[in-house]
Amino acid sequence: MSHLMNTYNRQPVAFTHGEGVWMFDENGKRYLDALSGIAVNTLGHGHPRLVAAVSAQVGRLMHTSNVYRVREQEALSDKLTALAQMDDVFFCNSGCEANEAAIKLARMYGHQQGIDSPAIIVMEQAFHGRTLATLSATGNRKVQAGFEPLVSGFVRVPFDDLAAIEAVANNNPNVVAILFEVIQGEGGINICHNEFLQGLRKLCDAKNWLFMLDEVQSGIGRTGKWFAHQHAGVKPDVMTLAKGLGSGVPIGACLTAGRAFGVFKPGNHGSTFGGNPLACCAALTTLDVIEADKLIANATRQGENIRAGLQAALAGVSGIVDIRGEGLMIGVQLDRPCGDLVKQAIDAGLLINVTAESVIRLLPALTFSDADSKQLVDGLAALIKKFLGV
Ligand SMILES: *Cc1c(COP(=O)(O)O)cnc(C)c1O
Repeated sequence: MSHLMNTYNRQPVAFTHGEGVWMFDENGKRYLDALSGIAVNTLGHGHPRLVAAVSAQVGRLMHTSNVYRVREQEALSDKLTALAQMDDVFFCNSGCEANEAAIKLARMYGHQQGIDSPAIIVMEQAFHGRTLATLSATGNRKVQAGFEPLVSGFVRVPFDDLAAIEAVANNNPNVVAILFEVIQGEGGINICHNEFLQGLRKLCDAKNWLFMLDEVQSGIGRTGKWFAHQHAGVKPDVMTLAKGLGSGVPIGACLTAGRAFGVFKPGNHGSTFGGNPLACCAALTTLDVIEADKLIANATRQGENIRAGLQAALAGVSGIVDIRGEGLMIGVQLDRPCGDLVKQAIDAGLLINVTAESVIRLLPALTFSDADSKQLVDGLAALIKKFLGV
């Protein structure tokens, strides 16, 4: 027995080390990692360049304070704003904190426009985190239940439904922003149409709303672009990042552009750890390796390999509702709850996830090779067939 607070249903396995896309447990058994710590280990495990850079940074300087200039943070802000074509960035330590910053920024933006009770439009099935404001923005009652009263000021609409948002626009003068995931991760790998993103961008411009994208899971090359919204050719006013940014070292970011730029002034927001030299070194190295090793093109390629492979292997199998995704953010929806598959996969040496009850979620490292993808497809297809009894 341990003294951990009982907040997770944990699988009965503990890992001792990792090597590339493989992880090893306490008995020396090896597992193909198709989850990457939920989209965190962008470069797999023990990437030599990341290990060298982070180790050197640990020896040089881990933490100073945001009351001083932090050169690593300045360099990372230059890099991220160039990649996103945005203006500036606030660093924190996690996805919920990045969204918390975006929510606070939207409220302050509203107050600066003379709106005393600003509201933010959010989506059904959304996931934005587990702090009070972000769980209130989340569209999942299981995340919220027991924590009422929720933070007010959120208006919920169906995902990928522009008409529903236009109706809110006509009826609610307090709306100042819209916050959503381009591809819903926890919600079951739900993808919105490019026309939805483009139409919403126009609506936000017409209404003076902030167009805020939660790319905590979909960002950093995972979908075959640096950021998932780039598939639709739109630009956000606010974008949040975290998971894959530091390849395992905690870091989150909230970027702004256009109307959202310059909203916060000194004293409005802060973080003790946010953007410390260690975290920024890990993020800078992650971005460098993604570029040097052409991992974004690889995410597209392996995503196609895996989806096409699963489609071929599972063709005609009844019980498969859909195989979908963008790049290495992949969902396989079954016609029944399939949480038990996670343990069956572990027994078979494969690390996957199930979300929204019936969607198998794959989030492999961007370093997956053709052979790794084939191994994943073969292993997973066999498990799914066995699970469905075919
Ligand atoms: C994981 C996730 C979050 C929360 O991130 P934490 O680091 O766990 O706080 C927020 N938004 C999205 C889209 C996520 O996938």
